[in-house]
Parts: sequence; C-alpha cells; structure tokens
Amino acid sequence: MFKKLLIANRGEIAVRVIKTCRRLGIKTVVVYSDADADSLAVEMADETVHIGLAPANQSYLVADKIIAACKQTGAEAVHPGFGFLSEKAEFAQACADEGIVFIGPNPGAISAMGDKIESKKFAQKAGVSCVPGHIGEIDDTAHAIKISEEIGYPVMIKASAGGGGKGIRVAWNRKDVEEGFPAVRAEAAGAFGDDRIFIEKFIESPRHIEIQVLGDKHGHVVHLFERECSIQRRNQKVIEEAPSPLLDAATRAAMGAQAVALAQAVNYDSAGTVEFVAGQDKSFYFLEMNTRLQVEHPVTELITGLDLVEQMIRSAWGEKLAFEQKDLKINGWAIESRIYAEDPYRKFLPSIGRLVRYAPPEEGEQPAGYTVRNDAGVREGDEISMYYDPMISKLCTWAPTRLAAIDGMGRALEDFHIEGLGQNIPFLAAVMDQERYRSGVISTNYIKDEFADGFKGVAPTSEQIDVMTAVGAAMQRVYAARARSTQAGLTNPVRTEWIVAVGHAKRRVKLSGEAEHLSVELPDEGRTIILETIDWRPGKPVFKGKLDGKAFTVQVTPAPEGFVIRHRAAKALVLVLTPRSAELHDKLPEKQAADTSRLVLSPMPGLVVSMDVVLGQQVREGEVVCVLEAMKMQNIIRAERDGVVKAVNAKGGDPVAADEVLVEFA
Ligand code: ADP
Ligand code: ADP
Ligand code: MG
Repeated sequence: MFKKLLIANRGEIAVRVIKTCRRLGIKTVVVYSDADADSLAVEMADETVHIGLAPANQSYLVADKIIAACKQTGAEAVHPGFGFLSEKAEFAQACADEGIVFIGPNPGAISAMGDKIESKKFAQKAGVSCVPGHIGEIDDTAHAIKISEEIGYPVMIKASAGGGGKGIRVAWNRKDVEEGFPAVRAEAAGAFGDDRIFIEKFIESPRHIEIQVLGDKHGHVVHLFERECSIQRRNQKVIEEAPSPLLDAATRAAMGAQAVALAQAVNYDSAGTVEFVAGQDKSFYFLEMNTRLQVEHPVTELITGLDLVEQMIRSAWGEKLAFEQKDLKINGWAIESRIYAEDPYRKFLPSIGRLVRYAPPEEGEQPAGYTVRNDAGVREGDEISMYYDPMISKLCTWAPTRLAAIDGMGRALEDFHIEGLGQNIPFLAAVMDQERYRSGVISTNYIKDEFADGFKGVAPTSEQIDVMTAVGAAMQRVYAARARSTQAGLTNPVRTEWIVAVGHAKRRVKLSGEAEHLSVELPDEGRTIILETIDWRPGKPVFKGKLDGKAFTVQVTPAPEGFVIRHRAAKALVLVLTPRSAELHDKLPEKQAADTSRLVLSPMPGLVVSMDVVLGQQVREGEVVCVLEAMKMQNIIRAERDGVVKAVNAKGGDPVAADEVLVEFA
C-alpha cells in the first residue's frame, strides 16, 4: 500500500481523506493557501506544504505547485477531493508523467466523462437516454438564441466544464438567453477557466437521482445504488438521501445497469457518479458523469458500510474489487444536510464571517435509535472566507427507515449550534418537518414551490409554543432565584402566577417546582405540562430539556425584556410578565419597520462587477441595477420598484459589505 499520500484540497474533504489514510496507516501531506494556514486539515496532516495565495487560481488550481509539493515530500499519490483539480484530465496525466499516482479514474475516462459535452456524445453512442438538446458548443448569443428556439423553451444554458451548480441558467424566452448566455459564459470562465457552453431542454419539476459507481483496474465495475438529491437551491444540492423514495427495484436495476455500462465503456477504474434527472413516472435521462468523489458520498457509505475513499485508494494501488454486484445490499436509510454559511432569510446568499460558536451534535449511535455523522473541516473560531465554497459541514443521519432518519436529522439539527454568521440550520429543520418532504414526493422545484417568497421561518406549532412557554418560565425562575440570593432584603414570596407571551400569544401559567423539574399549569386550558431541564445555566445559548418526557434542544438569546427562543425553524420572542405588566404591554404601540424600498442594498459581502445605472437615470422595476460577485457566483441585483437614481455609491471593482447602500432612488 502507499506510504504517503498528498491531498490537493482543503476543508472537510481534506479532513475526510486524512481520516481514512490514518486508518490505513498512510502518512498524509496537505497543501494549503494563505487563507488556510491555521485550518483543521493543516493541523491534522502529518506534513504540510504552503502553495500560495488565497485565490484558488493561485494555489489549489495550480497543478505545477501540487506536483512540486509531491516531489518535495516524497508523496507517491494525490487525492484531489472534489472541485479544484479533481476533474482535470491534464492534471491526472501530468501526475502519471511524473510517476505520481492520481487517486481517481484514468485520464482517458476523465476526458471522456469529465466534460458535459463530451460525455453526452459518449452516452448517446452507448445507448444511454440523454436530455434532448444540442450536443455541441455554442459560439455566441445569436447562436444561443437559434439553438434555444430549435429546442423550444424552456432551455438550460450550461457550462460544459461546470460543477457545483455554477454556470447554469434556465431561459424561458429569448430575453433570458440574451442576458443569460454572456453571464453563464463569464461565470464559467471565472470559475472553471473554460467558457464552452451548451444548451439542452429544461425538464420541468424533475427529480435528481444519481448512481454511485466503483471500478478497478481489472475491468470490474459495480454500482452502489442511488442517491436522491432533489432538494436544491440555485441548482445546487442541499439535502440528499440514499436510497431514493422514488425508485422500485426494477428502476434501480435499470439505472444501475446504464450507469455501469457507461462506466465500463470508458474503462472506469475508480469511484464516480452518473447523474440523471427522473420524472415522477420513473422515466430517467442522463445529465452528466462526475469522475470523482461526490460531496454527498457519506449517505452511500452509511447504507452500504463501505468507505469510498478507501475503495478509491485500493483501486489506484491496483487491487481488485473485493466484492461483486450480488454481494451489495442497501441497509437502512441515510440523509445528508449540507450546513452552509448562507442566509436562508435572504435568498440563501453566501454569508461569510467567523464561527464565533461552533458546537456540532454528538456523533455515533444515539439512544433514540439513529446514528449521527458530521463531516467538517472547521473548528470554533475559524473563519469562512469569501474565497471558497461556503460549506461549514455535512451532517448525516442513518436509521433503519426513512422517517426515523428524518426524525434523527431533525433532532441532530436542534443540537447543532452555530453563531457568528448566517447559516441554514433553521431552513434545513423546516424541511425535515414538512409533510411533503416526509411523504417523499419531491422534485428539484421543492424549495421554489414550498418557499415561494423565500424562507421566513415558520410559525411555532402548539407543541413548540408549549416548549417555549415552559423554557421561558424556567429561565425566568432561575434568574429570579439568582436575584434573590444576591440582593439582600428581598423577602416577598416567589411569584407563581405569570403571563407568558410567545410572540403575540399570551397565556396564564401557574408554576410549581424548580427549574430542574418545573410544573407549568395552564389554567385556561385545564392542563399541566412538565419540563425537565437537562442542561442550562444563565448565559448558556443552548437549553436542553424534556417536555412531558420528549427531549428537545432550543437556542436561547437574551432580549431586552425576555428571550428569543428558537426551536428548529420556529423563533419567537418570549416574555414572562406579571399580570400588571402584561396589561401595560398590550397598550404599547407596535414598532414600525423602516422603509428601505428607496434603497438598493448589497445583499452580501462581495465585489461589484459592474454598476449598470447612472445618476438621474429613470429605472423600471426589474431592471438590472448592478452585478455583484461573491464566492465565485455572480448575482444580478434588480430594482424592486420604479424610480429615478438619486445617488450611486459604488462602481465596478469596489468591495462592498452586506447591507451597504449601493444605489438610492428619489
Ligand atoms: P457533487 O459532488 O454532488 O456534484 P457539488 O457539485 O455541489 O457536489 O460540489 C462540487 C463542487 O464543490 C465543486 O465543483 C466545487 O465548486 C466545490 N468544491 C471544491 N472543493 C471544495 C472543498 N474543498 N470544499 C467544498 N466545496 C468544494
Ligand atoms: P453540476 O455540474 O453543477 O452538478 P448538473 O448538470 O448536474 O450540473 O446540473 C445541476 C442541477 O441542475 C441538477 O441536479 C438538476 O437539478 C438541474 N438540471 C440540470 N440539467 C437540467 C435539465 N436539463 N432540466 C432540469 N433540470 C436540470
Ligand atoms: Mg451535477
């Protein structure tokens, strides 16, 4: 087996590869840019090599630097992770030329399958069912319009070298093509250094289902069943699962056979993924093949018991696959939630900053019957920078059934505490609680359908209102007890009757017992709820307890008069008031939100690519005001109303902060 392996990547996937290498007794070398000098991967590696500046094109994407680092450290092999150089055939070839083993498929398979246009040509020849479209490069906007009109709207404009949902745009009409084609081309050039574009039919409301394949250098290929990745925003996956609730055994076998045939046709000799879009009727069309390890590979590992990184290393070393198709079985169900530094309340835009608090749930088998795995590359105090993907971690749960895995995920998300930047945990929790997700009838439109006006959190259920009421009362009791013990002369009896307001809803409560075991009587409803506090003391942002025996975790933040309590996707201001102050409270006027409709604010920190309006210009609703770039993604900022431009505060090339005023209308 290899003695030393270099990881040409960063973040959670670098950590993931180190873990397998340690188990196999292989020494690791991690390369890092300026931005990652103190990263967890650098801390865990046996050796490290600094390879340049933070921008990826000056570090992680420079093949020569990676090869030089291998030579310098004597690493015999390179694992490229995903993204970066993982699907560059020239890099795999350059490694081979230098006598370094590339842990991935042979360069021929990468160039045949690693490029969308090439792979479609190939798949078509191999008899795989493809999305209808024009399998070839588009020259310019006029050509794009011609092809789109031949295919018929809606169409999808795609970067041939694309990945990670970047370099993709749907066009519903000619205007969308005129605007979208140059934008996708620019995004592709920036993100992949390759601006070849193609166009295919946009399949409406499909499901994304992909087959994991695994091959060796002796002509064997098997598939490790499917993953469903239909929960996407911006064509990028956020929640994945294995197996898929759509497939029956026959469809699974048919998709698996096509994927294996395609892989065999290019002598595929590593881990790879054949992606399909599927209709609700179980028809399916080939999308692309990813000739690398996939972000969501953990769900496959959880249902098959295999370590895919280990399998890739063994294949690269020349070992034969140790099993055949008939030896493989699906065991249970696994879900992955990608925890992103992004603000679900603001159209999921990236949100960078420091992980002031980072406390993931406990990993391993849980008493409630589910297993937790959290793949992360960060620690508390680390920074999520604007240079790379804003992924914080991948939280997975496994259980014998789909619903048990979903319930486990809901609980694991409750137990995940992050502060310091925008993050999507409340959103992920909302999905776990939705009947539609639980039913398994999903599509890639799920987020658009279910959160048409964006995510605004959800109203607490009556059960959640009970939790918030009891937690608010318990915390108030602890603070009151503390005040009594520190303030001499307070001799009046402890008040037991309170009004608890959860948002606008006020209820009378009668308390007895202590915070550890608090009995909360709701006299107007004729019932009593019992709260056991498992873990909380003043100042702690997380409150763990049991309500009527059911375990929960909520996040608590002190507010001027009470607490803001968040349970999953529901958040409310909770006030514990005396009957007298509750009366006064009812008389207070509500605060009015400031009118910001005259202002165009920067929705995220980033760089202004272009400012498209000038002083005095009459702008109509929907017109482009400017283009911003952050985390390799271009965002078109449009006017939300008609108006005349009164001030322009930024120009192309300016860095801007979130909420900075870019343009003001009169
Ligand atoms: P999948 O593997 O399911 O296709 P994506 O396509 O969403 O997942 O993600 C792959 C993308 O991840 C790459 O194209 C790249 O943009 C991004 N990426 C590359 N390296 C890293 C990394 N170390 N951490 C997170 N994301 C990365
Ligand atoms: P990437 O390399 O970024 O993963 P893909 O080609 O796999 O690009 O597309 C990403 C996602 O976009 C898919 O998972 C799917 O949801 C959606 N998508 C891609 N092509 C189509 C299509 N022709 N019709 C409908 N949805 C599509
Ligand atoms: Mg894809």
